[in-house]
Amino acid sequence: MNYDVLIVGAGPGGIFSAYEAMRLQPDLRIGIFETGNPLEKRKCPIDGKTIKSCTNCATCAIMNGFGGAGAFSDGKYNITNQFGGTLYEHIGREKAIELMQYVDEINCAYGGKNTKLYSTGNHHLKKVCLQNDLHLLDAQVRHLGTDINYIVLENLYQHLQEKGVKFYFRTPIDKVEQSEDGYRIYSGDTVFEGKRCIISTGRSGSKWMGEICKHLHIKTRSNRVDIGVRVELPADVFSHLTDELYESKIVYKTKKFQDKVRTFCMNPKGVVVSENTNGIITVNGHSYDDPLKFSENTNFALLVSNHFSEPFNDSNAYGESIAKLSNMLGGGVIVQRFGDLIRGQRSTAARLADNFVLPTLSATPGDLSLVIPKRQMDGIIEMIYALDKVAPGTANDSTLLYGVEVKFYNLDVEVDENLETKCKGLFVIGDCSGVTHSLSHASASGIHVARYLFK
Ligand SMILES: Cc1cc2nc3c(=O)[nH]c(=O)nc-3n(C[C@H](O)[C@H](O)[C@H](O)COP(=O)(O)OP(=O)(O)OC[C@H]3O[C@@H](n4cnc5c(N)ncnc54)[C@H](O)[C@@H]3O)c2cc1C
Repeated sequence: MNYDVLIVGAGPGGIFSAYEAMRLQPDLRIGIFETGNPLEKRKCPIDGKTIKSCTNCATCAIMNGFGGAGAFSDGKYNITNQFGGTLYEHIGREKAIELMQYVDEINCAYGGKNTKLYSTGNHHLKKVCLQNDLHLLDAQVRHLGTDINYIVLENLYQHLQEKGVKFYFRTPIDKVEQSEDGYRIYSGDTVFEGKRCIISTGRSGSKWMGEICKHLHIKTRSNRVDIGVRVELPADVFSHLTDELYESKIVYKTKKFQDKVRTFCMNPKGVVVSENTNGIITVNGHSYDDPLKFSENTNFALLVSNHFSEPFNDSNAYGESIAKLSNMLGGGVIVQRFGDLIRGQRSTAARLADNFVLPTLSATPGDLSLVIPKRQMDGIIEMIYALDKVAPGTANDSTLLYGVEVKFYNLDVEVDENLETKCKGLFVIGDCSGVTHSLSHASASGIHVARYLFK
């Protein structure tokens, strides 16, 4: 029960910090504590036939367990400082990129070496976008795909076990306390001690993180949430972008409100899925590397960024209220045809059955204009028409919109350049720190702390 390092959370942040720490000091005693299950026991009950929507499991198999929220994700590792987090603000741009490249090398060494690395740098589509007031961000993207991502995680798990890392699954940590020579963490009545503690509880552990910070008097801030929809259309409409770039992050500034709208998490030939964060059902998407699992459609999110200033300081509550509204009206995720939205009518099961684009998620046909505030909805519609200029067909009547997609930004936890809090030896990394919100940034943050401690 006594460790050199206690790691709370077995997502990418936790995994990569353990990996690097063991590489640098193989005799370390590391314990990883995780609310969810080992990888092979993570199984979401939704099968699309008997169980079609979220059943609110005690721990969500999609969000919790070895591999974290990223385990069944599309496995897109973006190597860039332009999105995915602000790690570079803490450690510098060059170092952030170097760490993300190192994460990529590890992913390749553990099963991902035959996957493709895409790049948007100096691409001719950048000019086409600019000509239409759309801004294509620079990034290299390693697309592992859900299936290879799983294999990489399996291999990393085996490696960490062989190195002697001790895993505690179904062990939610309730409390973190400072002790005489380090930290004490509690799961129910069981206590674990360690010299240092690395917290990497991700988005699902964000509220809990807030409580821990309050208890330890660590300052936090929350002022951003992104709200939008997931767009699904025939893969051919976006194929000129996705074939060359796989993921294109395109940003647009709305004429009316001057809000930034961006494409996010693009899944060529993928599927739309629902996800459950703390009982709130929102929409997401992923795709597979295996052509046998391809769908006919491409999906991506369109998100409007909302920044709040005083006196409001709970942006996540704002996002949750909007998601709850869609859950109230639709029992979960709502789907609407773009044409219906523009005509001001709800989509119905009959209209969807007659639609040219068949949905890959069984969602409730409804009216998103009853859920998403006008400001964000106007921005989304404006962006769809702008995208239609670079990908004609985006604004087709039959394009499907699922809502709501909410990108919660975790509390910004006050940490220094080593991601250490004001409590010496207590590090907060990955998405729960507010510093990262992507696989590559979260993983890189873990490497950074391990190197700081043990190099
Ligand atoms: C469906 C989906 C698709 C995604 N696709 C992509 C993608 O393609 N590319 C990309 O860059 N990002 C993607 N993301 C985001 C990405 O998964 C996260 O940014 C990343 O996983 C963050 O890593 P993390 O280690 O900080 O946290 P997480 O991966 O969230 O891991 C945190 C872990 O901590 C555990 N935990 C929480 N609280 C406690 C507690 N109190 N005690 C013990 N354990 C606890 C959780 O169970 C979880 O397993 C996706 C997310 C989802 C949900």
